[in-house]
Amino acid sequence: MLLNNPPSTSPCVKEGDNRMAYVGRFAPSPTGPLHFGSLITAIASYCDARAHLGSWLVRIEDTDIPRIYPGSEDHILRALDAFQFEPDADIIFQKDRIDIYEAVIEQLHQQGAVYACQCRRKMLGSNHIYMGTCRDLALPLENQAIRVKVDNQTICFTDRLQGRHCSQLQQDLGDFVLKRRDGIMNYQLAVVVDDYLQGITHVVRGADLLDNTERQIWLGKLLGYPELQYMHLPLAMNDQGRKLSKQNRAQALDLTQASQLLQQALLALHQPRVELDTPANMLKQAIAQWDVTFIPHGTELQGTY
Ligand code: GLU
Repeated sequence: MLLNNPPSTSPCVKEGDNRMAYVGRFAPSPTGPLHFGSLITAIASYCDARAHLGSWLVRIEDTDIPRIYPGSEDHILRALDAFQFEPDADIIFQKDRIDIYEAVIEQLHQQGAVYACQCRRKMLGSNHIYMGTCRDLALPLENQAIRVKVDNQTICFTDRLQGRHCSQLQQDLGDFVLKRRDGIMNYQLAVVVDDYLQGITHVVRGADLLDNTERQIWLGKLLGYPELQYMHLPLAMNDQGRKLSKQNRAQALDLTQASQLLQQALLALHQPRVELDTPANMLKQAIAQWDVTFIPHGTELQGTY
């Protein structure tokens, strides 16, 4: 399958120069119910897209089947309804798209950009950077982890909030896994492929993903995809100084309190106050007042949530 052109069937994607100026997205993983930190990401990605007269898509990142938390997908979908977000296309689920990711791995294999790796995690150095032990062994791809090769170069990008961010690919990252030995597609691959196929132009997400961005830019370059604009939001922290996350079982959003939570999330982003109303009306106000320059810089929000 040739994946250099996004499918023309997607309502929001036009090929080549006709791509929309702004297509944003919210891409939660169902590894737990949505929490206040996820709400901040959803609101910021939505308001930023709408304030740019862009479209906004939702993708459920559910390739890592063992980490799916029962009921969380349902909670995410109910939350999107409760907060009255309006995606511009049907929600896509990555678990239905494994063939597409396989085809991209094949494409990279033809380019000589990937290889099978039989090294176990404990064989990595103390800094967890893979030294390329299996690079030249030409092992068959079946039933092995698949790694993509990185070059000896530095990738930089300018984040809309965090400023310039760079990684030296070999020293800082090393060849990284696209598909695990158990057959599960890695987030790095699926996110890059789907951002491209959905015609995404702008990524707004939590600062915990900042350090993944150079890997994703590298992979996008290998595949000939256009570069994206990134904005990594400061993270909401709990009272133990840890980021709210599904893994540390942050409290699920109470969907009966959608308007109040919306107001709190906008204040956390230092946006002007919006009057309590239906979530749809509050989002309208928030979009009209949206100003990225008010969002605190840095990777953590002040205070606890
Ligand atoms: N699925 C990731 C998460 O829930 C977000 C991926 C992204 O926005 O690039 O943390």
